[in-house]
Amino acid sequence: MSQPNPVATATAYQFDPVILREYDIRGQIGKNLSEADAYALGQAFGSFVIRRGGKSVAVGYDGRTTSPALSDALCKGLNSVGADVTFVGLGPTPMLYFTVKNLKLDGGIMITGSHNPPDYNGFKMMLQNEPVFGAMIQEIGQIAADGAFETGEGSLTKMDIRADYIARLLQDLTGKRPLKIAWDNGNGAAGDVLKSLTEQLPGEHILLYEDIDGSFPNHHPDPTVDANLVDLQKTVKDNQCDLGIAFDGDADRIGVVDENGTVLRCDILMTIYAKDVLANHPGGAIIGDVKCSQVMFDEINKLGGNAVMWKTGHSLIKDKMRELNAPLAGELSGHIFFADTYYGYDDALYCAIRLINAVSAAEGALSSLTSDLPTLHSTAEVRFDVDEAEKFDLVPRIYKSLSDQNLPDTDLDDIDGVRVSTPDGWWLCRPSNTQSVLVARAEANSAEGLERLKAMACAELKAIGYSADFDTISAH
Ligand SMILES: [Zn+2]
Repeated sequence: MSQPNPVATATAYQFDPVILREYDIRGQIGKNLSEADAYALGQAFGSFVIRRGGKSVAVGYDGRTTSPALSDALCKGLNSVGADVTFVGLGPTPMLYFTVKNLKLDGGIMITGSHNPPDYNGFKMMLQNEPVFGAMIQEIGQIAADGAFETGEGSLTKMDIRADYIARLLQDLTGKRPLKIAWDNGNGAAGDVLKSLTEQLPGEHILLYEDIDGSFPNHHPDPTVDANLVDLQKTVKDNQCDLGIAFDGDADRIGVVDENGTVLRCDILMTIYAKDVLANHPGGAIIGDVKCSQVMFDEINKLGGNAVMWKTGHSLIKDKMRELNAPLAGELSGHIFFADTYYGYDDALYCAIRLINAVSAAEGALSSLTSDLPTLHSTAEVRFDVDEAEKFDLVPRIYKSLSDQNLPDTDLDDIDGVRVSTPDGWWLCRPSNTQSVLVARAEANSAEGLERLKAMACAELKAIGYSADFDTISAH
């Protein structure tokens, strides 16, 4: 903590440091997140925007039961320092991003707990041209701790942006072939928008759990967990749909199943998008995070693109996209970013439109679009608990151990954690930025190769005092 600011006032406010995370602010209601936090964040974020020469801030919220009260306090805090609020109310996170971009506002805050349990909530923040993360979030926390708030009186304008947002999504729809699509909204915040959107799309649409319900009574709204896709898979098969699409709780992440109900991982989904994007942006940089399959990077290069591997984390990926002027980026976790004809933020509803375009234009079914890709053998993502205090020290120890061994035909990459490539494939171990866990994954071109990679990873983990269970195998 720095020295208290001499102009600090009685309104100085200390957030629980653990809620000021790498990519967002997130906490547990009743434990370390309350309306007082929301009010102080409004004061601090408003001051942060005003000091950067801005004034206008959009606010939206997801379907959690605690979101309306938090948004009320947040707006009051913003107004109290002179920030003008455009309030768009209940909807998915990308609709809030759209509001900021489309209305050219200076910043935005989405109140959302994303895919987390119902008693969690939080804030995703952005500026007009850049994500707010890392050091910026610490700076906002410091403004509050110092009570160094601006003074003023801002305005509050309520706006229903849904029709404009849906019109923008539909603007890029080129798919004319009527498809039969199952959608699993998981009772998330996109529900109302999804109902309107699907009414305006060609084809036939079956909606699951479209009603917004922040208690998530049906399943957890996280499409990266296969168990949450079971209902969607069944619906696709029972109704002979062309595909199934799922969203996480605030619809900035997508999950997809093909016409057979088989899960299409987001790195493989990216190869479909890359083909489409590269047709109009030959040689363009396309970014995938370190967890993505080698198949994706190889395919992007084969399609004439410039495949770039980057750190996991939606804010970090957005930042890298800006730097490279990349028309497309994606993470295995389901955040996919189009900047070729869209704004470059992660919008699962927009991703759905682009997938409809691709399937509609194809002669065959969705599975035919990736059937030529090599099938690799991979483990699921393994997460294991580590001591938070030493979390970031562990991977450098693995890196050093491996480089000291000077193994033949082995490349080490430390973009984010350590990604170890051998003739068999690769394995990755990285510290999570959001939890006290290390994340590991391996992918090989043969079953035997996968065993060798797993053994190598396990030996390195054992040397630092941990064991990882790599038993779950999935092939894609
Ligand atoms: Zn989300």
